[in-house]
Amino acid sequence: MADFEPLVIESAEGCWLTTTDGKRLFDGVSSLWCNVHGHRHPKIDAAVADQLKRVAHITTLGMSADVTDQLAEKLAEITPGELSHIFFSSDGSSSVEAAMKMAFQYWQQKTNPCPNKTKFLALGSAYHGDTTGSVSLGGIKYFHQLFAPILFEPVRGPIPCSYRLPDSVSSEDAANHYATEIESLLQQHHGSIAAIVMEPLVQGAAGMITHPVGLLKMIRDLCDRYDVLLICDEVAVGFGRTGKLFACEHESVVPDILCMGKGLTAGYLPMAATIARPHVYEAFLADIADSKQFFHGHTFGGNPLAAAAAIASIDLFETTDILQQVDAKATYLRDRLRPLADHPNVGDIRGRGLMVGIEMIADQSTREPFDSSMLIGKKICDAALDQGVWIRPLTDVIVAMPPLCSTESELDFLADAIIDSIEQVV
Ligand code: PLP
Repeated sequence: MADFEPLVIESAEGCWLTTTDGKRLFDGVSSLWCNVHGHRHPKIDAAVADQLKRVAHITTLGMSADVTDQLAEKLAEITPGELSHIFFSSDGSSSVEAAMKMAFQYWQQKTNPCPNKTKFLALGSAYHGDTTGSVSLGGIKYFHQLFAPILFEPVRGPIPCSYRLPDSVSSEDAANHYATEIESLLQQHHGSIAAIVMEPLVQGAAGMITHPVGLLKMIRDLCDRYDVLLICDEVAVGFGRTGKLFACEHESVVPDILCMGKGLTAGYLPMAATIARPHVYEAFLADIADSKQFFHGHTFGGNPLAAAAAIASIDLFETTDILQQVDAKATYLRDRLRPLADHPNVGDIRGRGLMVGIEMIADQSTREPFDSSMLIGKKICDAALDQGVWIRPLTDVIVAMPPLCSTESELDFLADAIIDSIEQVV
């Protein structure tokens, strides 16, 4: 029998969780990358409590809630470019499913249809969720392999991981290298590809794989050149994680469809959204009898309590300097983790903003990983737990995704626990 004692959380406040047996833990992964403002923020608490006095749930099939409409307007205002038409769902995977079906249907019924555009190009080691469609896009063995018989195969792009290229390759050359590989796939398959689906800047679940600067913009240009839609999955990177509200903004890219989840409600309630540009939306407009509408809907899509939490969270981004502080906090955390760069088993410390991955390796010269049965990542996170920090590994990549509101002394606490735990285990 495995010795596994589940942690049971009784309450939380700010960046800290309290277990039923009274242990305080720093929430080093923002409760799976969601709680950007920490827990029990008084303004978000009040917004949800206030909404509870008006209505907790209605269907958004055939009607809407005022608060959900307000959120839709707000999201159209804060997302890049002319992204403006929103479809609500309940989790990140569903927001990607909706984007895939939207992209497929767009090519089937736009003014000059392209019925052969039915496939997707996804990057190597991609992660877009656990529903059947989104896991089909995924390229991570553990999530994908067992289910292969019931999945479809996307056109598979490269894993844009500069760490696996020789040190002599500059970031610019790396971006060109991966863009060239993607272009050659488009040259072969563009007539059958509806969309490229990608996590912009950082592939989180793959182990914080951080793309070379400029790659996103190159992929946007390729999509335009080869007449393929671009779907950016910002479920993990959206809402301030990388230092801008949306990661696409770093390279002034406007995707055709953008998916968001996790930080949308600041981790308060399950809600996700898929937002499309007008040219995508317009392909769905027709007389009801023409059946061009999007035949896809979720019972809890647009839930009013979740919408109230999301509006309050966005309001905090707009009225405080939380977003402006991310870069400085990220630099601070990086500086505190810098001693790890000399550790013989630390291969790479990477990420953007407050999204950090520390890759543990067996051998510096070959960059060989540890044997997976050694469970190095898990052992390090278990050691961190003993020091009062809750973090989770992605195989042997140690992930630090603290709430954006973390203070310097909280980041000190996190960094010290990570350094000590690594030193204890390897
Ligand atoms: N897309 C990305 C990039 C993610 O990181 C995740 C979850 O980690 C998902 C989609 C799936 O989101 P959810 O777990 O809310 O379904």
